[in-house]
Amino acid sequence: MTRVRCIVFNAALGALDYRVPEGMDAPPGSVVVLPLGPRQILGVVWDEGDLPGDEANAPWPEHKLRAVLEVLPVPPLPVALRRLIAWTADYYLAPLSAVARMALSSSAALKGSGTVTEYRLTGEEPARMTPQRLQALDLLQGEQATMRELAEIAGVSEGVLRGMLGQGLLEPVLVDSDRPYPAPDPQFAAPALAEQQAEAAAEMVAAVKAHTFQPFLLDGVTGSGKTETYFEAVAAALEAGRQVLVLLPEIALTAAFLGRFEARFGVAPVTWHSSLKASERRRAWRQVAFGGAKVVVGARSALFLPFADLGLVVVDEAHEVAFKQDDGVRYNARDVAVMRGHFEQVPVVLASATPALESLQMAEAGRYKRLVLPSRFGGAQLPKIEVVNLTELQPPRGRWLAPPLVEALADRLDKGEQSLLFLNRRGYAPLTLCRHCGFRFKCPNCSAWLVEHRLSQRLACHHCGHEVPPPPVCPECGEPDCLVACGPGVERIADEVSELLPGARVAVVTSDTLASPAAAAEFVAQAEAKAIDVIVGTQLVTKGFHFPELTLVGVVDADMGLDGGDLRAAERTYQQIAQVAGRAGRGAKPGEVLIQTRHPKAAVIAALASGSRDAFYEAETEARREAGAPPFGRWAAIIVSSEDEAEAREAARAIGGTRPDEPGVLILGPAPAPLSLLRGRHRYRLLIAARRSAEVQKLIRTWLAPLRFPPGVRVAVDIDPYSFV
Ligand code: ADP
Ligand code: ZN
Repeated sequence: MTRVRCIVFNAALGALDYRVPEGMDAPPGSVVVLPLGPRQILGVVWDEGDLPGDEANAPWPEHKLRAVLEVLPVPPLPVALRRLIAWTADYYLAPLSAVARMALSSSAALKGSGTVTEYRLTGEEPARMTPQRLQALDLLQGEQATMRELAEIAGVSEGVLRGMLGQGLLEPVLVDSDRPYPAPDPQFAAPALAEQQAEAAAEMVAAVKAHTFQPFLLDGVTGSGKTETYFEAVAAALEAGRQVLVLLPEIALTAAFLGRFEARFGVAPVTWHSSLKASERRRAWRQVAFGGAKVVVGARSALFLPFADLGLVVVDEAHEVAFKQDDGVRYNARDVAVMRGHFEQVPVVLASATPALESLQMAEAGRYKRLVLPSRFGGAQLPKIEVVNLTELQPPRGRWLAPPLVEALADRLDKGEQSLLFLNRRGYAPLTLCRHCGFRFKCPNCSAWLVEHRLSQRLACHHCGHEVPPPPVCPECGEPDCLVACGPGVERIADEVSELLPGARVAVVTSDTLASPAAAAEFVAQAEAKAIDVIVGTQLVTKGFHFPELTLVGVVDADMGLDGGDLRAAERTYQQIAQVAGRAGRGAKPGEVLIQTRHPKAAVIAALASGSRDAFYEAETEARREAGAPPFGRWAAIIVSSEDEAEAREAARAIGGTRPDEPGVLILGPAPAPLSLLRGRHRYRLLIAARRSAEVQKLIRTWLAPLRFPPGVRVAVDIDPYSFV
C-alpha cells in the first residue's frame, strides 16, 4: 500500500496522511482531492520527510487511512517550487498550506481544460432603450467576459444583461481555456546594444545558457537601457526553449512594459496580476504549468506560479517596497525571487537605478554579481538637480509651489514641453477639520485621519477603505459649510497648477486614477501624444515611465518621507527622488529637477543635489552597520491584534513576559503600535533585533509555540519588516 502525506488548505490541521488506491498515480506535488470527515478538501502530496516541525503530525495508523479521491488533471507542482514553498514557509514563519495556496492561485485551472462561455456586444441597436442598457452598451464596448464579470464592468445586474442576450444585443462566445499563447520571437527586433549594455548582457546570457544559479544586480542609471539589456537574457532563455518570469512592482507599470516587450519580441507577454478575469487566470496558470506561456510578467504573486521549465527570473525596479507583502504570508518577493532562482538553478536579475542597500551589500559580499550601466543610452544627459530652500523661498499662504518652481513650469508650458510634479500623497488634503470647533475627521476603524478626495467627493481612510461623503454640517458642533482642508495632496497641487497656469492640461496620477491596466495604458498614450502638460502624481509616477518630452520634475515636499523616521526613511527618500528625477530629460532635450525642502543640508538632500549616490549609500551603510540594523543585523516584528483592546494588551504582555533571554538578541516592547487601531483591531508590537548570526526564526518559533491565546487574538510575525507602523 502506498501512503502519502498531504498538505491541506487548513492551517490548523497540519499535514495529513492518506492512502493511494490501487491504480492511482500520485507522485509528490500532485494536487489531490481528499476526504475529510464528511467533506472533500484540496491538498498537495508532499515529499516524505520534508515537512517542517509544525506540520509533522504523528503518522496516522494504517487501518484508519482514507483513500485519496482524485488526482486533479494538472502537472504535479515541480520539485523546485515545492522547495521554494517549504523555504518560504520556514523562513517567514508561515503555515506551509498558506504558502502552497499561493501556488494554486486559480481554482478553475485545477479542474482541467474546458470551455467557458463569455459574452460580447453584437453591435445591434436595441428596439427599446433603457438607461441601464445605454450604460451597458457604452461600458461594454470591446469587452468580452462572463456574465458576472460583464455585470461588474457595466455596473448593471446580470438580469439586465440576460435581457440584452435575449434581444440579440449580446452574443455568446465559446472560449477554450487551453488555447495557446503566441510565442515571442527572440530575434524579432534585437537592438544594437551600446558597449556597456553589451558587456552586461553577455554576462547574463552566459548564465542563462549555463542554466546555473547566479544573482545579478543590474545597477544602471535611469535611462541607461536596463530593460533592453536584460531583454537579451530573456531572448537567450527563449532560444533555449525555457520560460521567463519578470516581476514588476505595480500593475500600473505593466502597460508601458507590454508595449516595449511587444516591440522587441513581436507579441505581448502573458500577464499575471490580481485584476485578471477568472478565465484569463485559468488560461495563464495552465499554460505556465504546461510550458506554453513563455514569458510571464506579473506582480509579486506570479512568483509562486508552477513554471514547467523556468530559465530566468527578472525583478525590475527591484528596490521597490511594493515587493514586500504585508498581510497574509509576509514575504519579500525580491528575496524569494532569488531563492526561486537558487532552487531552479537559473540566474536572477535584480534591476534598479537605486538598488536596495541590502542588494548592494550582497554585491559587496560577492554573493550577487554587480553589472553597472553608468550612463544614459544614446547620449542623453542625466538631469540637472537644484534645491529650492523653502525657508527662504516660501510659497504664498495656502499654496505649495515656490516661485522658482512656478516659473519653471510656466517656461515649459511656453515651450510645449512636459512637467511632472511629485508628491507622495493621494487625494486633496490629508486632514480635514471644522473651522468653527476644530473637530478633526478621523477614521472610526483606524488611528488615522480621513483624507479628502475632491475628484470622487468623499472622505476616505487610506488604511481600511472607510469612506463617507463630506457632511454638510460639522458632526460635532452642527455648523454648516465648515470644512477646511489642511495640507496638500496631489489633487490640491493640480488645482494650484490650474489656477496659476490656466492653459495647462493637468493629469493627476495615483492609484485612484490608474487603478487598472487599461487606465494606465490610457494615461501613457495621452502623455506620449502630448495631450498632457503637467502630470501631478504619487510614487506611482516615479518609476518605469519614459516620456521623451518631459523635461522638468518638481519634488513638492522632499522632507515628507523623512518624517516617519523608520529604518529606511532616508534610503526610501533617496530612491523616490532619484527615480522621479530620472523621468526628466530622457529624450534629446536636457532635464531639470527642482527639489523643494526645508532641510537643504540634510544628508540625503545634499547627496541628491550633488549627484553623489555612492557617498550617500556609504554613509547610510555605515549608520546601519553601527546600529546593528539590517542588513548587518536581523530584525523581526511580532504584531498582536484583537478587536478588544484589553485582550490585545494581555496577549502582548503574555508574549513579552515569556521573552527568551539570549545573548546578541534584543527584544523591545510590547508597545502600542504607531497605528494602534487598524481596521477595527487594536495593535501591539514587539521588535526583535538580533545579530546576523542569530537564529531568529527558531527563537521565535520556540518562544511562541507553547503560548495559547483567545480566538479573537491574532499574532503575526514579520521577518525582515519594512513597515514599522
Ligand atoms: P532604464 O530602464 O534603465 O531607465 P530604459 O530601458 O527605459 O532605461 O531605456 C531608456 C530608453 O532608451 C528607452 O526608450 C529605450 O528603448 C532606449 N534604449 C535603450 N537601449 C537601447 C538600445 N540599445 N537601442 C535602442 N534604444 C535603446
Ligand atoms: Zn480606517
